[in-house]
Amino acid sequence: MNAPEPGNDAAATDLFDDARSRLEDIFRRLDVEEDVRERLLRPATALQVSVPVRMDDGRLRVFDGWRVHYNTILGPAKGGIRFHPQVNRTEVTTLAFWMTVKCAVVGLPFGGGKGGVQVDPKTLSPLELERLSRGYMRAIADVVGPDRDIPAPDVNTNETVMGWMADEYDAIVRAQVPAAITGKPVELGGSRGRVAATGRGALQVLDLWAEREGREPAELTVAVQGFGNAGYHFARLARERGYRIVAVSDSQGAIYNADGLEPGAVWEHKTRERELRGMVYCEESVLCEEDVEQLSPETLLALDVDVLALAALEDQVHADNAGDVRADVVLEIANGPVTSEGDRVLDGRGITVLPDVLVNAGGVIVSWLEWIQNRTGDYWDEETVNARLAERLGREAEAVLDLAAREGVSARTGAYLHGIGRLAAAITRRGNRQEA
Ligand code: NAD
Repeated sequence: MNAPEPGNDAAATDLFDDARSRLEDIFRRLDVEEDVRERLLRPATALQVSVPVRMDDGRLRVFDGWRVHYNTILGPAKGGIRFHPQVNRTEVTTLAFWMTVKCAVVGLPFGGGKGGVQVDPKTLSPLELERLSRGYMRAIADVVGPDRDIPAPDVNTNETVMGWMADEYDAIVRAQVPAAITGKPVELGGSRGRVAATGRGALQVLDLWAEREGREPAELTVAVQGFGNAGYHFARLARERGYRIVAVSDSQGAIYNADGLEPGAVWEHKTRERELRGMVYCEESVLCEEDVEQLSPETLLALDVDVLALAALEDQVHADNAGDVRADVVLEIANGPVTSEGDRVLDGRGITVLPDVLVNAGGVIVSWLEWIQNRTGDYWDEETVNARLAERLGREAEAVLDLAAREGVSARTGAYLHGIGRLAAAITRRGNRQEA
């Protein structure tokens, strides 16, 4: 019997088709040339690799991995590396497509890329994880480099993993090339402010929305799906700004407290116990007055809150459950958490969606700042990094929301018009090599 092709399941194909389907309306509105359409509907390069890893017990396991460059017209490919059991070629391609749009939306000199390995990293020992990270970098090193493709962290990868990969890359090319990978530890040339950048940027976009709506942070309640790197830093900073974080979830469970949770204490518990489920919130915490209610992760999506922040994975709000959402605004911190059908349902119900390609762009903006620092050898303090992030994201977010208001379209359509317009202009300006 033939083994199924790794991960190319129908659901993942739908994900890419669904993501691309949003382009047709944009192409029509921008009246783009046929060349632009043809270039943006498919990935430029997709590399599939097998990564052999010697396990601690002496067995050899081989993991499937991918690295996709979706489009590099605006600069070298840029995008994270995901370690997850559901990773497959189509998902990586879709994520690389979103990176292409995102880098264009915020005006970075980067194209879109993404990588992933089909693995449950929680089943690996630290040494196995390091061997996998190094093996994956060896497998993709030919397509990586400061002017070709600059990977970064994504789901289940972090600065430690980036540090191993950066070290492996340097060993392969026999040189110190810190600009080949971002999201590294500060000690290896990483940027100050990178770890919290995605959450910080998401909060800035939410603040901008609140300001335009005349709403005060202190009056707004927030539920956060996905209490990982992006979700935690968003929740922590939003709490500092005065928003009330009433619920957070991870893949195991969700917790709720109508009076507000303290994200720092929840994070401490989660890092210690590795899950939110079973959390006794008051234990060892100064905020012991209130109890925490346990919810199923699905219930969190339907809570009666002002802001629903989605910071887990793609495809979370769709045709079947978008009708249950009760928030006024959905903040897409994850990539692709709302499907196009989900978008239509939310839009029909008057719920604003602040789109991923803008909301989570803080991460790639600070990756760009890290790349600049690595290339110039001039390293900045955190205040400078945060100020440059705020300046770039603020400018582009204002432009997106202004465009959406002017055209009478959703914030997502505004963002796509803004970004795809830049890509289309560059594609047209580059001309056609075949006919030159
Ligand atoms: P992470 O691995 O640190 O966190 C993901 C969290 O989501 C984990 O806590 C996990 O338990 C939780 N989760 C998974 N399935 C869930 C479910 N069904 N319900 C509730 N929670 C669930 O990953 P991350 O880096 O924080 O990335 C999260 C999302 O943000 C991804 O879509 C990623 O592509 C996007 N993103 C991350 C960055 C970054 O800089 N880290 C940048 C841009 C976009």
